[in-house]
Amino acid sequence: MDPRADLLGTIEHLVLDCDGVVYVGSEAVPGTDRLAATARERGVSVLFLTNDTTMSRHDLATAIRAAGIEADPREVLSAAWATALWCVESGIRHVALLGTHRLEEELVSAGVDVSSCMGRVPGSVQDVDAMVVGSAPDLTVRDLDTALAAWERGMPIVAGNGDRTYPGTAGPRLGCGSLAYALAHATGEVPVFVGKPEPIMFREAERLLGLDLSAPHDYDRSKIALLGDSVESDVLGANRAGWTSILLTSDDRGTGAGAEPDILVTRPTDLLEEV
Ligand SMILES: [Mg+2]
Repeated sequence: MDPRADLLGTIEHLVLDCDGVVYVGSEAVPGTDRLAATARERGVSVLFLTNDTTMSRHDLATAIRAAGIEADPREVLSAAWATALWCVESGIRHVALLGTHRLEEELVSAGVDVSSCMGRVPGSVQDVDAMVVGSAPDLTVRDLDTALAAWERGMPIVAGNGDRTYPGTAGPRLGCGSLAYALAHATGEVPVFVGKPEPIMFREAERLLGLDLSAPHDYDRSKIALLGDSVESDVLGANRAGWTSILLTSDDRGTGAGAEPDILVTRPTDLLEEV
């Protein structure tokens, strides 16, 4: 049987990647609005899962609504918010931050004290439990030096995601993962990565969906489907988590390498067609 057959009748949760699935820049991806609305009509919950480390959940929900999809900030799990939650769960209460003010707000709203490394003089940040790294367009080498000076042996380096680059207007820019690796190289500390495809992100998503992970694992995780446009973050992470992975791609010949999706679509509305 085609795995797309009545997908919305077999899953309980539809998880949507944002960039490339809900929107591309300020443009809505055609059909995702109809897919999300139909899912909700059929009693399937909708959650938004993004590796973004620069925006608040509130900003992201606003961007999702601008793409024509109802979204409450509580239905959004960003790598920024997952990082904040993970810090609290790990007993991390005071961090040095390389990242945007929005990431700082998310950490603070989860109960984490933040000393931002941005614009500070090396040596001016002290007594922190961990180093948190997010994408930061304004970051300078001095900011990295400030973080390095605040680092002490054994201190975790927590990166919102492992992305090497992200697209900028004048070409690719250093992603969160590359910034974390700069600090890792300088300190010898192996970073903790939070965002997709890492298990931390998927565990936090399941928690947000109300699944009790401490209970015996009898929940059929294939009832959670993730629609994403990245093989290395969405498909790989969903496959590892036991979720149903759906790749949105303009090339329907397959992924060629790496993780294979359970379902391949060229348009979000392919998931609504009778097959
Ligand atoms: Mg994407």
